[in-house]
Amino acid sequence: DPLQLQDPHIAVLAFPFSSHAGHLLSVVRRLASAAPSTTLFSFFNTRTSNLTLFGPTGAGVPENIKPYDVPDGVPEGYVFQGKHQEDIGLFLSAGCDGFRAAMEIAAADSGRRITCMLVDPFLWYTQEIAAEAEMHVPWVVFWTSGLASLSSHLNTDLIREKLDITKGIAGREDEPLSFIPGMSKMRLKDLPEGVFFGNLESPFSNMLLQMGRAFPTAAAVAVNSFEELEPDLTQQLKSDLPNLLCIGGPMNLLNKKTSSLPSDDQYGCLAWLDARKPSPPSSPVAYISFGSVTVPRRVEVVAIAEALEVTGVPFIWSLKRESWDQSLPEGFLERTRGRGLVVPWAPQVDILSHEAVGALVTHCGWGSFMEGLAAGVPMICRPFFGDQRLNGRIIQDVLEIGTVVDGGVITRDGLVRQLGMVLAGEEGRRMRENIKGICLQARAAVEGPLGSSAVNFNKLLNIILTQ
Ligand code: UDP
Repeated sequence: DPLQLQDPHIAVLAFPFSSHAGHLLSVVRRLASAAPSTTLFSFFNTRTSNLTLFGPTGAGVPENIKPYDVPDGVPEGYVFQGKHQEDIGLFLSAGCDGFRAAMEIAAADSGRRITCMLVDPFLWYTQEIAAEAEMHVPWVVFWTSGLASLSSHLNTDLIREKLDITKGIAGREDEPLSFIPGMSKMRLKDLPEGVFFGNLESPFSNMLLQMGRAFPTAAAVAVNSFEELEPDLTQQLKSDLPNLLCIGGPMNLLNKKTSSLPSDDQYGCLAWLDARKPSPPSSPVAYISFGSVTVPRRVEVVAIAEALEVTGVPFIWSLKRESWDQSLPEGFLERTRGRGLVVPWAPQVDILSHEAVGALVTHCGWGSFMEGLAAGVPMICRPFFGDQRLNGRIIQDVLEIGTVVDGGVITRDGLVRQLGMVLAGEEGRRMRENIKGICLQARAAVEGPLGSSAVNFNKLLNIILTQ
């Protein structure tokens, strides 16, 4: 059959919101450079998200990665009502059709049928396409977060049954999830919304539930983590998902260039950090960022600004433009000029690895967590939603490389105390020691032919290339 002889053509299906598509593209870049050059990766994503990832010209994208646009599900002339996750809801309700049509175009363009699907598991419903008679290809998923959130989605039915969801969470917020091996440090309140609390009927929650049930049907579940980070959880999950493949260390340990979000330094952050030499600087810089989507409320922006003024800590603060006018205290930028930088977007990975930086104030997105870890920077955690509370718990209580803000929100006095603790205190010193140890493990995992992540990455490559 001549069809059997063609080179592999992998359809990559992205979830086009927050940093998901960027994290997926990072993995695809790694796969594309490791696979034979004749392997084709078609990358399916909305126009808006593709534009962010590839830019208007697509310059710098490897030859064998081809972006294709899929519809965003927003009906023509639709007026947004400002509902929570409205855009995500519309995208999800569009279902498989847009992906199916774009995949047909990619197959026709290249003259190569699709041989494998590599998918963000939020798009759980696309397993239907992989299973269709005319397609019939492996459905492989890449989970952009860590193992604890993977476990909480995989075990959603169990958690709901065991803890009797009809009783609600009130009064049980601090109960540990000890009945799930590897999760005993996690509390009920740490779970992502949609597992045990929150609006369980929303399209997003339903998507998470269906995704949890779909994981075991995937040909492989690749994760941006490494086995040694959470060994118990790894063992446990492997028994449920035999093809669980932790392929991280932090992506940026593997190759800095894999970062797919805009990383240019248009606001001069790196030059600013360089100018703070001679190193090591006596007053380390705090880097503050809440990721690609979260906009903190005004009261917390003000608390951060006041803490920075009170302590005199030098800082780089990645803060969305809308917050500058709406939330920053009047005169803050002038008063801190020279000592701090506020920018709408920062080259985070490079900033974190700069020797002048001593703390990361973070929302605990998995990407930021891994980047901070790889750079050896202890963290002050202010989780907002999704997997972030679990990640904060891991950072503070499992790995002891950071501290979560008291009461869940940033206050001036709380941040003053935590900045002192992390930048200058004994706790901070201990955190840095702990991170060093974990970084060594991460490096060992990704390096050499025998590192656990290196081995898993090759397994993943084999799975996606085998026809
Ligand atoms: N990021 C960046 N510059 C910024 C803010 C964020 O480069 O000013 C990058 C960061 O390095 C990370 C990603 O955006 O790779 C955010 O991903 P994460 O998983 O931490 O959070 P999310 O955006 O999904 O909430």
